[in-house]
Amino acid sequence: MIRLPIYLDYAATTPVDPRVAQRLSQHLTQDGVFGNPSSSTHGFGQTAAQAVATAREQVAALLAADPNEIVWTSGATEANNLALLGVMRANARKGRHLVTAKTEHKAVLDVCRRLEQEGCAISYLEPGADGLIAPEQVAAALRPDTVLVSLMHVNNETGVVQDVAAISALAHQHGVLLHVDAAQSVGKLPIDLQHWTIDLLSFSAHKLYGPKGSGALFVRRRPNRVRLEPLFYGGGQERGLRAGTLAVHQIVATGEACRIASVEMASEQARLQQLRDQLWRGVAKPGQIALNGHHARHWPGILNVSFAGLTAEALIAAIPEIAVAAGSACTSATAEPSHVLRAMGCDLPRARGAIRFSLGRFTTTEEIDYTIQSINVAVHRLRELSPLWGQESSVPLNVDWSPPL
Ligand SMILES: *Cc1c(COP(=O)(O)O)cnc(C)c1O
Repeated sequence: MIRLPIYLDYAATTPVDPRVAQRLSQHLTQDGVFGNPSSSTHGFGQTAAQAVATAREQVAALLAADPNEIVWTSGATEANNLALLGVMRANARKGRHLVTAKTEHKAVLDVCRRLEQEGCAISYLEPGADGLIAPEQVAAALRPDTVLVSLMHVNNETGVVQDVAAISALAHQHGVLLHVDAAQSVGKLPIDLQHWTIDLLSFSAHKLYGPKGSGALFVRRRPNRVRLEPLFYGGGQERGLRAGTLAVHQIVATGEACRIASVEMASEQARLQQLRDQLWRGVAKPGQIALNGHHARHWPGILNVSFAGLTAEALIAAIPEIAVAAGSACTSATAEPSHVLRAMGCDLPRARGAIRFSLGRFTTTEEIDYTIQSINVAVHRLRELSPLWGQESSVPLNVDWSPPL
């Protein structure tokens, strides 16, 4: 028997892996490792510091980084804030221009708004209809006063994978810093910070089966140390970049989540690709569905589709036993259609019809079978009820509704 409801919203957050939860729980109570890692005068603090050091090595190993380049944060939002505000404030005399994209997460775009208030100029690149930013677009946007480029790796709404390796080479060649929001890709796709000249990289533990409220910012130290202004001040932890007593239980859990990911990444990706293909083949009907994203450069854990003539709201209400997102979970509280899909040139009906399925470690073939059944029944029923279905106006004009299956 299949357990309902079915969780297909892994891009919003993942459940903590039981192996990670066990590690976390060993770092809380009196019989566990509860010390303050800054307390170097006794064993409690020293064991805690050792646990943090091990976690730092586990995170660094996953990214091919140096452990000294990892700065613990409360998640990707804080890491993005530290990267963007920190770099732009520390380099104000060098220049005040930043290049980013319209399809970034709000945890980058809202920081950019703040930087504009502080007098920075921001260029917002527009992707192609497939969501990709061409490296040449980045090159064309650079100015003599450009300090930083900030682009995400995997888009949280569409799963589109940007060519951050090519963009990092380009940024390096032009002498500008590159920040990558990798909240959706760390632990999912290989990241090689030894060979990719990325200067700053953010991620969040709760997107890779770790706990919420934990993440890190990679800050490059070699060959050139990236200069950052901290967001706040205190005990000098994390070499002064992020003051505050380290959350040992969260950090240890984040390290364990990264260790598991580095072992299981390849097999997990292959399995998710099969599940994603199964789902797409099951719901795709030529002329009735559009894929929002890129057919090849996508992370298989995310499938974003629009059903012709249907709103996401109606469809989601019709499948209460399946947890999916309309657009992005972070913005679905507001009535605005997804800024990501709009930036890709989707018209309003298509953007309003977009549903994001996101699959993960605990998704099964049976769950996907059940989902396909439910979706097809619901779509059929809603279309019979829909006065618009079959009329010219229900089908957005600029959409290829017959993508390859
Ligand atoms: C989830 C997410 C964030 C925010 O991460 P938190 O750790 O929840 O603050 C930022 N960027 C992207 C792309 C995300 O998917």
